[in-house]
Amino acid sequence: MTRKAAQNIVALVYDFDGTLSPGNMQEETIFKAYGIDKRKFWAKSQALVHRRGYEQTLAYLRLLIDDPVFKRKPLRKAYLKKLARNVLYYPGVAEGYFDQLGHFMEAIPEVAECGIKLEHYIISSGLKEILDGTSIRKYFKQVYACEYDFKGGRPVFPKLVINDTNKTQFLFRINKGKFKLSESINQHMPEEGRRIPFRNMVYIGDGITDVPSMTVMHKSGGNAIAVYDPSRRVPREVKEMVAEKRAEHFAPADFRPDKLLVKILHRTLKKIIYSIAYRSSSDRSSDWVRRHM
Ligand SMILES: [Mg+2]
Repeated sequence: MTRKAAQNIVALVYDFDGTLSPGNMQEETIFKAYGIDKRKFWAKSQALVHRRGYEQTLAYLRLLIDDPVFKRKPLRKAYLKKLARNVLYYPGVAEGYFDQLGHFMEAIPEVAECGIKLEHYIISSGLKEILDGTSIRKYFKQVYACEYDFKGGRPVFPKLVINDTNKTQFLFRINKGKFKLSESINQHMPEEGRRIPFRNMVYIGDGITDVPSMTVMHKSGGNAIAVYDPSRRVPREVKEMVAEKRAEHFAPADFRPDKLLVKILHRTLKKIIYSIAYRSSSDRSSDWVRRHM
């Protein structure tokens, strides 16, 4: 029998490009360092997809190994980490957002009463080596992104590919607390044995590539928020995600304390915290009754 988990952990799960960061991490880091024309690179990548039948993510991962510029100067692991300092963030992300959210939680009495903890996760189709080098890495419990196998410091083969549809696998890993790829997540695990139930999870993403993840969140009783570039008008895909009930809220990707997104997050966190407190008091009542019947 599976032991009942405390289920007092709350998870915020973020997409990266377009959600925490404007644009695309490869463009700000690798392309600028190598002087690569982004349109030409993505056109080559699309050519692999359309002419050779490559999966989208595998196509760009192959080019980062095989394209002549990378043959001449391979993308070494340490160099990718170093390039991470050029990653751009939306307002607030690298200026206190994570600590402020922690303080917001601490101010709610139920958080200490029920031992509630907040964890942050990234699930991205970008490169893990870049994400591991970012200044905000320390705030995340796990970062899931595409990974190469490196031999002698050079990337030889992608050992993990994350695309829009298999992103959902990592939601289940977070849900079941089975973080390592070597751990199977296919076995049935009763709801009460799961480390973080979906109702305690919030997914934050920006686009069409997040639709499968938001759909899983929605169907499983979780929470989803769609964000968009604050300098643009509300994009059509964001409107559709809300209209089709894949995301319950949408807001500009501005993570500063007085902004709409943070207000929505506060409200969502309060809902989750009070629900955890409510369940724990109802559990105590039924335990008492069971002992006194
Ligand atoms: Mg994105």
